[in-house]
Amino acid sequence: MAKLCLSLTGNTLDRNLEVLEKNRKYIDTAELRVDFLDPDERLHIRRFPEMAGIPVILTIRRDSDGGKYVGGEASRITLFSMGLAFAEADKRKNFAYVDIESDFNVPSLEEAARTFGTKIIRSVHNFQGVDVDLVKRIRELRRTGDEIAKVAVMPQSTEDVLRIYQAAKETKSIKKILLGMGRFGTSTRILADYLGSHLTYSSAADEDNLTLAAPGQLDPKELVELYRFNKINKDTKIFGITGFPLTATSSPAFHNALFTQEQKDAVYVPFPSDSLSSFLRLAEEINMEGASVTVPYKESILPDLAHRSERVESIGACNTIMKGAQGWMGYNTDGLGFADALLKFVGTKNLRGKRVTIIGAGGAARAVAAEISRLKGKALILNRTVFKAKELAARYNFLWGGFDHQGMEMLGHFSHIIIQTTSVGMEPDLNGDPLDQYAFSGKEMVMDLIYKPAETRLLSRAKKAGCQIANGSDMLIAQAKYQYNLFMRTTLDSEVVTKHMPWKFW
Ligand code: NAP
Repeated sequence: MAKLCLSLTGNTLDRNLEVLEKNRKYIDTAELRVDFLDPDERLHIRRFPEMAGIPVILTIRRDSDGGKYVGGEASRITLFSMGLAFAEADKRKNFAYVDIESDFNVPSLEEAARTFGTKIIRSVHNFQGVDVDLVKRIRELRRTGDEIAKVAVMPQSTEDVLRIYQAAKETKSIKKILLGMGRFGTSTRILADYLGSHLTYSSAADEDNLTLAAPGQLDPKELVELYRFNKINKDTKIFGITGFPLTATSSPAFHNALFTQEQKDAVYVPFPSDSLSSFLRLAEEINMEGASVTVPYKESILPDLAHRSERVESIGACNTIMKGAQGWMGYNTDGLGFADALLKFVGTKNLRGKRVTIIGAGGAARAVAAEISRLKGKALILNRTVFKAKELAARYNFLWGGFDHQGMEMLGHFSHIIIQTTSVGMEPDLNGDPLDQYAFSGKEMVMDLIYKPAETRLLSRAKKAGCQIANGSDMLIAQAKYQYNLFMRTTLDSEVVTKHMPWKFW
């Protein structure tokens, strides 16, 4: 199983020890980044393995390789020698590994390391992209069979990420550490075991004044508690989420918490994707069981689906895919989740006799409109870009308009329920209110699909006027529950889901 290594980038040994102690329960190994230490501190590195009490990697990274060491090569070799000298019979007091670059050529030092049981990590870093022949790079890096090849590359696209997984498959027999840096590389850090990597590197991201040792490193706590790193093995089912830029998704927190709660051997990983077709090939490459699909791919994924559920057909968008015998099966749980949340809010089984206004005509509004029509409600759609409101309304024989005087007048006649589906008012736009020209009478039931903040400006105005209000959290939970049930082919109910929601991650 891949080990979890904490890269220590403090400026003193004591500061590093302090960070190590805070993370000790999560990690197997530490990497002492000597290049981050103050010059005086570098003289005492030999003591660190004993202080740490766990296997430690000795790394002195040059600035040309993405590190901070700017002294000459001769002084760096002297530092390496100081770290490896006076080897003790008790191996735990020596450095367990030394990281030396592919062009490092000091046979006496390597020989000393081998004699005293310090393993050599032979490393190469590419901060510009992914090597054209990555397989060759991995195969030719090691000088002897007992070395560990470390290849860190910077994927610039989902296609690059796919190439990392393909290269891992072709170099299965080689002892290695293979990882993608930066935001595209996140999955390779979480799925280190799947890649056949000896370890994954992490950084104590929430520590003051500490720099990440490399771009894209995750926090050890996040890897273990959120991504279940130490539960991932060769049989673990992989699920994911694709979208772009995919910066603020709470889905990994939700699904991974439920996998833990329900004791499932599964992991849910973010795959920020600049290309849907590359993502789908990547999903096949790593045998992904299913995935959430979010902005901007909910509509463009339709042609790639071998099967579309009725809801996908009626909404015209898909937010969940599952692997089937013939290809990807597409589902939409946004609509189902919305319908559950709305009926709970309104306290009825359908919307017969209800006149509803939908604010917005984007992706979420499409699911909302389809469900309101299915539930027999009559609706008005108001949107900034009026032709989009018109187009969506035409599908269900609804009325449409903009946020002008006429729109507000029509709203007066469709005000039993108002459903806000735009992103206006969502964090950080706390003052945003798409209906600021409308004065609530107090009789409207107002639902905002936004859940961050819990009470948008629009909801707070409606509440003050005496309206009943609801935010988007019930919908979010319900749609994610349906998604989880599809993934796990189960029927978990909402109470179980709500009880174990990882609120702290939201
Ligand atoms: P989307 O497809 O990008 O649609 C955005 C909508 O917001 C469009 O109607 C757009 O109008 C409108 N809009 C954006 N900026 C505006 C502005 N400055 N003034 C007026 N209108 C503006 O996004 P989406 O996927 O529908 O998501 C919309 C919101 O729903 C987000 O806040 C999302 O978090 C929330 N949501 C919640 C859940 C849940 O489970 N609770 C699920 C899905 C979505 P134009 O057409 O004029 O651009």
